[in-house]
Amino acid sequence: MALTLIRNAAVVATMDDAAREIPGGAMAFRDGVIVAVGTTVELAAFARDADTIVEAQGCVITPGLVNTHHHLYQSLTRALPGATEASLFGWLKRLYPVWARYTPDDVFAATQLGLAELALSGCTISSDHLYLFPNGVTLDDTIHAAAGIGVRFHATRGSMSVGESLGGLPPDSLVEREDAILADCIRVIDRFHDAADGAMVRVGVAPCSPFSVSQGLMRDAALLARDKGVMLHTHLAEDADDVAFSLERFGCRPGQYAEELGWTGSDVWHAHCVQLDHAEIDLFARTRTGVAHCPGSNCRLGSGIAPILAMRDAGVPVGLGVDGSASNDAANLLGEARQAMLLQRVSHGAGAMAAREALHIATRGGAEVLGRSDLGQLRAGFRADFAIWDMAQPASTGAWDLVAALVLAPPHQVRDLFVEGRAVVRGGELVRIPRHRIIAAAQASLARLMQE
Ligand SMILES: [Zn+2]
Repeated sequence: MALTLIRNAAVVATMDDAAREIPGGAMAFRDGVIVAVGTTVELAAFARDADTIVEAQGCVITPGLVNTHHHLYQSLTRALPGATEASLFGWLKRLYPVWARYTPDDVFAATQLGLAELALSGCTISSDHLYLFPNGVTLDDTIHAAAGIGVRFHATRGSMSVGESLGGLPPDSLVEREDAILADCIRVIDRFHDAADGAMVRVGVAPCSPFSVSQGLMRDAALLARDKGVMLHTHLAEDADDVAFSLERFGCRPGQYAEELGWTGSDVWHAHCVQLDHAEIDLFARTRTGVAHCPGSNCRLGSGIAPILAMRDAGVPVGLGVDGSASNDAANLLGEARQAMLLQRVSHGAGAMAAREALHIATRGGAEVLGRSDLGQLRAGFRADFAIWDMAQPASTGAWDLVAALVLAPPHQVRDLFVEGRAVVRGGELVRIPRHRIIAAAQASLARLMQE
C-alpha cells in the first residue's frame, strides 16, 4: 500500500483539539488515511519507506476547505442582467425562466465548472443543492460531474412543489408532484448514498425552501431522511421577506416552523439563517442543528448579517457556504472566510473574529455541519483531505503570520489539493480534466442559454 510523505512545510495547521500549528511540518498518509502528523524531523523515518515524497517549502498545509451550501447549476448564470441588483425574491423571479431552459448537459457542465473553481481554491468537499429538474435533468448529472473532478460530494435532492398558482414563488412549469419528488429521493439515496467513513458521495433530502414546498412535503421529507439515515437541508430565514412570508403564511417564525415539521437535529443543516432570533439560536444549539453561513451571498442580495458570533457562543455548529454562483457570484471559500470575519467585525468590532476562527469555521466547522467526523482535521486516523498553499505569490508575500494570512492576505489558488490521499490539483492545475475542457463545455452551454 503506497505511503506518501509531505514534508518541510512552513507550517501545518492541524485544526485538531489543541489547534496545533507545526512549523517545519510534515504529514504521512496511506490508503487515503493520515498515519502521522508532526515536524519533518519527527517524521524522518517515513522517508525511508515512502513511495512518494512531496516537498512543501514555503507552504501552509490545512485541512481541505468544506463547502456546506451551493447550487452548482447556477455557475452558468453569473452576473445576469436584470438580476445583479435584485433582492432574493426579485432575483429568483428573473432567473427561473433561464433555469427552465437547462438540459442535463448544461447541469453537468455547470457542476464541473463550479467544482473546478472550488478545487482550485482549496475545497476538498462540497455539498450541492439541486432543486429544479427541467428537460430530463437528474441529480445523477451532478454526481457524475463531481466524480470527474475528484472532490467529495454531498448531493442533496432538492425540490419545489408549490408554484405561482398555489401562492408559491416559482413558475408552475418548474415544480414537481410531491409523490414523484419523494420517489426520486428514494431512488438517488438507494443508488448513490454511502454512509461509510471515507465516503466520496453522500445524498441528502432538501426541499428548496418553506416558500416553494408544502408543509406536507417538509414533514414527509424529514420522515424519509430519518428512515434512510441521510441528512436534511434547506434554506431558512434568509432575509426579512422570508420571515414575513413565514409569519403571514404559517403564523410563526421560521425556527418554529422548522421545529414543528421535524427539521431540527444534528442531521439537519439550514442555509443562511440570517434572521434567526435568540430563541431560534437557542433551539438550534439545543438540537445541534447546523448552519451554512454564506456571507458573500448575504452581502450580494442585501439579506443582512447573520448572527454567527451568537450562534457559535451558544454552540450552534456553523460552516461556510459559497452559495450558488448566481448570488455571489464567485465560489472561493477563503474569500468567504474573509467575508465572514469582516462582517462580524462590522457588527462587533475588530476583535470580534480572528482570522484563525474564520479558518476553523471553513474547515472543521463545515465538516461538523455535514456530519463528517472523519474530516476537517489533520490528525492520524482522519482522511487525507488537505490543501497545500504556496504563500510565495503576489497576494500573500510579505505576510509574517502565514496562517492568519490565509484569511487576511489569501492566495488566489491552491498549489496542491489531495482528497482521500489522491491529488486533485497539482502545481495549480486540475489533475484529471484540463481546465480548458471544462471551460469550453461551460461556454458551449452558456452560448445556447443566451440565444434562446
Ligand atoms: Zn442557496
